[in-house]
Amino acid sequence: MQKTLPFDEQFIRRLTDTWPTPFYVYDEAGIRRTCRELNSAFAWSPGFREYFAVKALPNPWIVRIAGEEGLGADCSSLPELILSERVGLRGEDLMFTSNNTLAHEYRKAVQLGAIVNLDDLTHIDYLREHVGLPELLCFRYNPGSAREGNVIIGKPEEAKYGFTEQQLFEGYRRLRDAGVQRFGLHTMVASNELNGEFFVETARMLFDLALRLHAELGIRIEFVNLGGGIGIPYRPEQRPVNLAQVGGWIRDLYEQMIAGTVLHPLRLLMENGRMITGPHGYLVTTAVHHKSIYRDYVGVDACMANLMRPGMYGAYHHITVLGKENAPHDHVVDVVGSLCENNDKFAVQRSLPAVERGDLLVIHDSGAHGHAMGFQYNGKLRCAELLLRSDGSIRQIRRAETAEDYFATLDFAELNSEGVGCGTG
Ligand SMILES: *Cc1c(COP(=O)(O)O)cnc(C)c1O
Repeated sequence: MQKTLPFDEQFIRRLTDTWPTPFYVYDEAGIRRTCRELNSAFAWSPGFREYFAVKALPNPWIVRIAGEEGLGADCSSLPELILSERVGLRGEDLMFTSNNTLAHEYRKAVQLGAIVNLDDLTHIDYLREHVGLPELLCFRYNPGSAREGNVIIGKPEEAKYGFTEQQLFEGYRRLRDAGVQRFGLHTMVASNELNGEFFVETARMLFDLALRLHAELGIRIEFVNLGGGIGIPYRPEQRPVNLAQVGGWIRDLYEQMIAGTVLHPLRLLMENGRMITGPHGYLVTTAVHHKSIYRDYVGVDACMANLMRPGMYGAYHHITVLGKENAPHDHVVDVVGSLCENNDKFAVQRSLPAVERGDLLVIHDSGAHGHAMGFQYNGKLRCAELLLRSDGSIRQIRRAETAEDYFATLDFAELNSEGVGCGTG
C-alpha cells in the first residue's frame, strides 16, 4: 500500500519556522478514525471497551482524545496512572496492568478504583498486606507453550509475565474464598501481530478458560481482556489487520461458546497502543550531513533518542523525503543519527532519492513506542510533539527539552559552593 501523509512539504516547512526539527506530528483525525473503526468492529459486543495503552504515547492530549472516543486507559506505572487521572479518567476507565509491581503503585490504582490486573499468584497476598483486596480483580494468564508468541514479545514460555494455568485456578479459588466478588481474565501474547486470526485464537483460549473456571470454581468471569498487540503495516507491502473481519470472527466464536451459557453477557476488553496512534505519528527531521566511506550515509538531526525502534529491534520505518516523493529512489544509504552507537540508524541500506542538506525527512508510523521510548544517553534531548488538529490547525502538546531540563536533577550550585574549581582561569 502506498504510504501517504496528512500534510505536504510546504506545511512542514512553515512549522519549522516555529519549531526547529526534529519534532513529532500526530494526526488527530487519523487517531479518531482508528478508535472508531475498532469500536465499530466490536459494536455487537455489549460493554466492549478498548483501553489505550498509555505507554505507547503518554501525552495527556492524546489520552484525552482517546477518552473522547470512549477509550479507557491501560496504565503500567504510577506516572501513567497520574497522567490518566489528570485527564479525567477515573475508576473502571482505568486498567492497571503492571508486573513486578510496587505497593505504592497498587495503592494508587486501588484508590483510583482502577481495574487491577495481577501478574503473579504471590501478588494476591502482597496486595492484601499492603493495600487490601478490591472487590474486582483480574489475573494475567501466560499460556506458556500453548501459544507461540512472536518476535517482539517473545515466546510466552520465556516471558516473565502472568500466571500459569494451574496458578490461575489456584488464584481465583483464593480470591473467591477471600470474598472477592468480581473477576476478570487477561492475557497479552502478541505484539505487532498482523494476522487477525491470532486474536481470534486468543479469544477462544480465554472463552474456554472462563468456562472451565466457572465449571470448577463456580465463579463468573465478567470480562476477558484480549490484551493489545494488533500490528500495523510498517512496510509498504504489508496490509493492516481487517478489524471488522476480526470482530466478526470473534462474534461467531462468542455465539458458539458463550452466548447460551451462564457467562453471557461476557464483556470483551482490549488494550492496544500501537494500532491506535502508531500509523498517525510522524517524526520530522532535517538532513544535515553526508558521508561516503565504505557505505553512503545521510546524517539527520534526529537520533535514536527520538525513536529507538530501528536501533532496538531492527524495526523498519518508512521514510519519505518531502518534495521528492516521485523522484527516482536510486541512492542506497544508511540514514543515521548522531549518537555514539553504531545502531543509531533509522534505515540501513535504504533506497532513497538523492538527499541534499536541508531536505526534510519524515519517518512514518512513529506514533507509538516512539517519543515515549526516548532517553537522554549521550546528552541527547527529547524533541517536541505537535498535534495536527482535526480542523487543520497545529498545537504544541509537548515542548522540546532544553539543556536546563537535562541538568534539572543535578545540583551545580552545591558543587560550586564546595569551592575548588577545575579550571585554572
Ligand atoms: C505494551 C503493552 C500493551 C500495548 O501493546 P501494543 O503493541 O502497543 O498494542 C498492552 N498491554 C500490555 C500489558 C503491554 O505490556
